[in-house]
Amino acid sequence: MKAVVLHAPHDLRFDDIAPAPAPGPGEVQIAVSHGGICGSDLHYYHHGGFGTVRVREPMALGHEVSGTITALGAGVTGLTEGDLVAVNPSRPCGHCDYCRKGLAHHCLDMRFNGSAMRFPHEQGLFRAAVTLPAAQAVRLPAGTDLALAAMSEPLAVCLHAVAGAGSLIGRRVLVSGCGPIGCLTILAARAAGAEEIIATDIAAPALAGARAVGADTVLDLAGDADALAPYAEAKGQIDVAFECSGAPPAILAALKVLRPQGLLVAVGLGPEVTLPVTALVAREIRMQGSFRFDAEFATAARAIASGRIDVSPLLTRVLPVAEATDAFDLASDKSRAMKVQIAFPSP
Ligand code: ZN
Repeated sequence: MKAVVLHAPHDLRFDDIAPAPAPGPGEVQIAVSHGGICGSDLHYYHHGGFGTVRVREPMALGHEVSGTITALGAGVTGLTEGDLVAVNPSRPCGHCDYCRKGLAHHCLDMRFNGSAMRFPHEQGLFRAAVTLPAAQAVRLPAGTDLALAAMSEPLAVCLHAVAGAGSLIGRRVLVSGCGPIGCLTILAARAAGAEEIIATDIAAPALAGARAVGADTVLDLAGDADALAPYAEAKGQIDVAFECSGAPPAILAALKVLRPQGLLVAVGLGPEVTLPVTALVAREIRMQGSFRFDAEFATAARAIASGRIDVSPLLTRVLPVAEATDAFDLASDKSRAMKVQIAFPSP
């Protein structure tokens, strides 16, 4: 069967690999339909990894996929052949301290599809078929758009970030960095009751995406670096800032506009940054990180399937999987692309 396999930086192949094994007890087999290309896939594609994490053997990429159940192992309940599913790429161990304390996304023995952190690598989901524990498959209603359902994973990241911020009802929110994660954070913040959402970026498709998902004010910081200045008046006007770019200037800009006791949620990853501690202390600014997700995955899948959260404005293009390299190149071009997906032919 076919898979999108990275052999080395810029050496992405549409390989023949061994068929997915028959599902064992508690497992399901899924024919993969759509797969979204994420920033981490692009890091592997361009650089062979990030930080100390390197691809050291051929690795199928991808962790944002949807598909159809094609076989069930013994003892699987709640799923049947033909069910549409969103695939959760994270597989916590279930018995370490963090798993037992309800913090499974901090599992000490986490497996995450399409990650080179472990060796052998945890193979990604851009494979024609995958066999996985049934717990990784979230059932969707018949007729669900599988392209949209493949955005469950990034939406889950954003639901987790928003859930960590406390109540947003009536709040004025800033979202900086409006790639897919920023735009999905805008949708998640609105669903959580944010009253006013201000979005910033420097790239045209990101700014257009922020408008398309309903940000109230969209500021182009490339055109006007001081566009946020009015929000810094009177010690700050923003209640909660979701920093989704990871860019040091964006983090510092967000800290400037937070009101006293405001909250910065750091979602994006980037270079280290020196923080203005005096300002943090004097205005009692709070900062917290947000990483991955847990139960939010199923919530995200259901919100997409029901249409309660409409992620369709973010889908730039779906390319046939045989054109995966073109899809990765398009996804790499922030001047043209928001979310690019590959699609496997129907089994
Ligand atoms: Zn664990």
